[in-house]
Amino acid sequence: MTGIVVLGSTNMDLVTYTARAPKLGETVTGREFVTVPGGKGANQAVAAARAGGAVAMIGAVGSDDFGTVLRHTLEASCVDTDLLRTAEGSSGTAHIVVDDDGGNAIVVVPGANGTVTDLGPGDEALITTADALLLQLELPLSAVIAGAEAARRHGVRTILTPAPAQPLPPELLAATDLLVPNEHEAAVLTGIADPHAAAGALLRQVPEVVITLGQAGSLHASRTTEPLLVPAPHVTAVDTTAAGDTFVGALAVALVEGRPLPEALRWASAAAALCVQRPGASTSMPYRTEIEAS
Ligand code: ATP
Repeated sequence: MTGIVVLGSTNMDLVTYTARAPKLGETVTGREFVTVPGGKGANQAVAAARAGGAVAMIGAVGSDDFGTVLRHTLEASCVDTDLLRTAEGSSGTAHIVVDDDGGNAIVVVPGANGTVTDLGPGDEALITTADALLLQLELPLSAVIAGAEAARRHGVRTILTPAPAQPLPPELLAATDLLVPNEHEAAVLTGIADPHAAAGALLRQVPEVVITLGQAGSLHASRTTEPLLVPAPHVTAVDTTAAGDTFVGALAVALVEGRPLPEALRWASAAAALCVQRPGASTSMPYRTEIEAS
């Protein structure tokens, strides 16, 4: 079993499907409403656990009913939640309106995630035991930096998904071993649209990068190896939600198991390809046996 700690967000997505989104001041009648447990941190934790990692989650849920569901969702995939705090008040929520053209409007309220401004009691000790720490940018940056620096102090590999896209502070870049942006995030970080050129620019700031390219696959670049483009399996995608988080979770498992990089990237691509063939977010993430059989 591999030790992976995720320091990140938990959110309940509240999704309304409607013919068209209301304008300000207007009320419309929607067609369907669903609640979907998510948050990039929780999604990566579930993906890594299903891929076979021993995963623990650091972060916070609220003291509301959503918090109970979010915690149970993690536990149902065998994610250790001992250090997942319960903060007084609301859980993180994403309020999503999807219209008939597939367009969406989203309001994210950080809720309990916003209370995670630093590492809490026991967090650094847990990180010390890990082989890898997975980070994203849906918690306050102060906590993300504290986690990355704690990992760095103890020689634990850090894997950062820079989403939502935003400029990264130098101290976070200095404590990042592997950066995994999608194409859009790579462009925001570098101002360069071409992924190969963007990867080159990012290598001036971190030693290793994987840029995910949707159905075009993923591009690995490091300071010591030639760039490697790994194509995605040809599949019929029905819902790409959480494809990136599935990719990162599975990649982390393969890397801490010591698999050679090309094999680790193919394994992550296989996991993400399974995810996009099913509807849903964490519910669509594959188990290890399915990845191995694909
Ligand atoms: P999301 O925000 O939907 O979670 P993302 O934008 O972070 O995704 P992408 O680059 O779109 O990340 O996808 C991540 C990985 O998922 C890709 O590198 C690829 O391996 C896989 N993937 C995505 N879309 C497809 C597809 N249509 N067919 C096969 N694999 C796919």
